[in-house]
Amino acid sequence: MSFATLWESLLPIGRDGLSGGYRRFSWTPEDAACRAWFTQAAAERDLRVRTDNNGNLWAWWDRPGLVPGPGLPGGSKAVVTGSHLDSVPDGGAFDGPLGVVSAFAAVDLLRERGCLPVRPLGIAAFSEEEGARFGIACLGSRLLAGVIDPGAARALADAAGVTLAEAMAAAGHDPDGIGPDDGLLAAIGAYVELHVEQGRALADLGAAVAIGEQIWPHGRWRLDFTGRPDHAGTATLADRRDPMLPFAVLAARQAAAVHGARATVGKVTAEPGAVNAVSARVSAWLDARGPDERTLQAVVGEVLAAAREAAAGHGVELAAGPESVTPAVMFDPGLRERLASSLAAQGIQAPVLPTGAGHDAGVLAARVPTAMLFVRNPTGVSHSPAEHAEPADCAAGVRALATVLEDLACR
Ligand SMILES: [Zn+2]
Repeated sequence: MSFATLWESLLPIGRDGLSGGYRRFSWTPEDAACRAWFTQAAAERDLRVRTDNNGNLWAWWDRPGLVPGPGLPGGSKAVVTGSHLDSVPDGGAFDGPLGVVSAFAAVDLLRERGCLPVRPLGIAAFSEEEGARFGIACLGSRLLAGVIDPGAARALADAAGVTLAEAMAAAGHDPDGIGPDDGLLAAIGAYVELHVEQGRALADLGAAVAIGEQIWPHGRWRLDFTGRPDHAGTATLADRRDPMLPFAVLAARQAAAVHGARATVGKVTAEPGAVNAVSARVSAWLDARGPDERTLQAVVGEVLAAAREAAAGHGVELAAGPESVTPAVMFDPGLRERLASSLAAQGIQAPVLPTGAGHDAGVLAARVPTAMLFVRNPTGVSHSPAEHAEPADCAAGVRALATVLEDLACR
């Protein structure tokens, strides 16, 4: 099966020998290797590859008269599937790549079935979906959809102080061209993203594939605690203004538990970061998600209130604010129904599930009818090397995606 060949050819890229996790960050040599892999997979299938202004990759199965563009009549709008190839630090193999590999494998399956698209069919790999290098999740699709200012994006800096503009330029991509591409979006009639499940609902339901219902509202807040740097041996406890003390991790856990939501502090930096000194500044990032906006605001409000109180108690200053907030996204009901009926017609049982994870599909949903398919992850773990999908479930995912694409693009 073409899935296994594609999967194994991508697997070594960016894998850390020690952790077994992936470090595929945008505009790095690993990212370039992922792009080369995509280009080759597309070339092997005679798909036309193009990198858009924002660094997102597109592979088009089109032909003269059926090329996606603003001039096409409405009925010929393109159908696009795909996901992303970048990872979180030491992420798993499936989050993102499963959607891209399944897309190529689904094209192979459509050709085996003798299906010929009557509208352009595209495979997309969006840049910097995880926000692992520049801090903003779904950066490539946000730029495409015009929901982030290009100038502000160019100035985003990674941990080493390299800006997005510098990183893009170093990788041979012109950063001056980034920004919304309304023509491209207008040419797309539907976007269907297949993704590994990031939870373990499907394992309990006994199904291999699910249809996405909605994405919980979610966001990232940065909390900067500023104290007074001092000596770890000579400064008395009473005299310290130690910014390490109030960073409110426990409050996040408690607020999430009370509200049936999720709150995580997964990244903390301390400056200057000496073992034997009281820190000058501690920055912590709160990731919060909830089933609705009101719950999300309640969780974040409680965490920030606890952080303020704790900071005041330790004589530490706190500056806190959102870095990115994404409202709830309900996937297009009509497209969802169409997925459900085309899968049911093939005897594929697919329950409907919400997700707490953000996706490019969530960003694009504001502009394009969008749907998602999830593939069972027996561990339920994601953003970790323990993330997994069984080969039989990956195959079921490819079949489900091909079925949906056949219905949307070939009829
Ligand atoms: Zn993902």
